Amino acid sequence: MVLTEKQQMLRKLFRQFAETEFTDELLDRLEETGEFDRAIHDKMARCGFLGVKIPVEYGGQGGDSLAYAMMVEEFARVSPVLSIYANTSNSLGAGPLLYCGTEEQKRNYVIPVAKGEKILVFALTEPGAGSDAGGTLTSAVQAGDEFILNGRKTFISGAPFADYAVVYAKTDPSQKGSKGISMFLVDMKLPGVSCGKPEHKMGIVGYPTSDIILEDVHVHKSDLLGPLHKGFSTAMKTLDGGRLGMAAQAVGIAQGCLDASVKYAKERKQFGKPIAKFQAISFMLADMATEIEAARQLVYSTAVRKDAGDPESAKLCAMSKLYAAEMCNRAAYKAVQIHGGYGYIKEYKVERFYRDARITSIYEGTSQVQQMVISGSLLK
Ligand SMILES: Cc1cc2nc3c(=O)[nH]c(=O)nc-3n(C[C@H](O)[C@H](O)[C@H](O)COP(=O)(O)OP(=O)(O)OC[C@H]3O[C@@H](n4cnc5c(N)ncnc54)[C@H](O)[C@@H]3O)c2cc1C
Repeated sequence: MVLTEKQQMLRKLFRQFAETEFTDELLDRLEETGEFDRAIHDKMARCGFLGVKIPVEYGGQGGDSLAYAMMVEEFARVSPVLSIYANTSNSLGAGPLLYCGTEEQKRNYVIPVAKGEKILVFALTEPGAGSDAGGTLTSAVQAGDEFILNGRKTFISGAPFADYAVVYAKTDPSQKGSKGISMFLVDMKLPGVSCGKPEHKMGIVGYPTSDIILEDVHVHKSDLLGPLHKGFSTAMKTLDGGRLGMAAQAVGIAQGCLDASVKYAKERKQFGKPIAKFQAISFMLADMATEIEAARQLVYSTAVRKDAGDPESAKLCAMSKLYAAEMCNRAAYKAVQIHGGYGYIKEYKVERFYRDARITSIYEGTSQVQQMVISGSLLK
């Protein structure tokens, strides 16, 4: 796909921001403390990055899915964890509200999220309901003007510092699986809401992930999002967009691995010459570059087709996520290999990329779940 001049400029802008603002000092601090960095989040907000894909009337930039994918890719090329800072609001944060929120809900919640004033997270997964999200046990029982929520959500990105969470809960236990589930906007300060301790993760350190525990939480019925008992289809639609973002993240990580490997292969000498002169090394670089370009083209064309309302979008988003995530893991493996022993040492960028790459084939639907979506569409 040939990018227009405007798209190329936009991509350059994202790249420049990442290269200038995501300093080694900041990235090392994130890794050491594991804590959320409000300052860089707010800087992204001031530049409009948190609302790239959110319509202008709700405080965003009104950009398309391609602009969003390019942003996530360029940010992830320098810092996979910081790409999530800008990804959350645009995708899983505002997504469910934009799909089915009332005008009032959109004004109250999306505008502050797009501006970075509030952080909204997406709480679907439970200890017993991961790939099988239809196994949701969190319950919401109506009592007058309120719903009373009880349950536990797990692995929720951003939960420890979130202002709101979109929580999926069973409202009609007589319906099986994914049926009878509703969505609620939960204020994280409500009595009965608490978070588990932040998880110690292999990678993407610096964007805390924890459980959300709900004990007799009273949510007003005005915070029911979308129609009663029909929350699951919105979750799936939101995840299509989320998967495209994660595919873009995987492309960015792989590109970061390739850039570091090309540089290192030219500098590092063994047997009297740069290791780039050995075909075993240069062919690994060639394979990485080819697969990255294939994934990028799939992501970009899916972004354009999704915005055009292509009926194949769900399948294409799953294909993008599956291919880009698996490709990213192959690229990260090769990058460490090319760096030899130094690739195993934390001072070298590829060690962090290698750990960060691993999550891409797990969250927002594992690779096996993407294969289920794709094969389901082929065999229906
Ligand atoms: C860092 C991190 C951040 C996350 N952020 C969020 C978030 O913000 N919000 C949220 O709601 N969730 C979040 N998650 C949860 C994530 O989406 C789930 O971990 C993921 O969907 C997999 O669920 P599971 O961990 O329960 O694995 P399981 O579903 O138990 O899967 C275990 C293995 O079995 C395979 N498997 C399962 N079913 C099948 C099948 N039918 N056929 C073939 N293979 C199968 C899986 O592919 C996997 O390999 C996050 C997770 C992590 C680690």
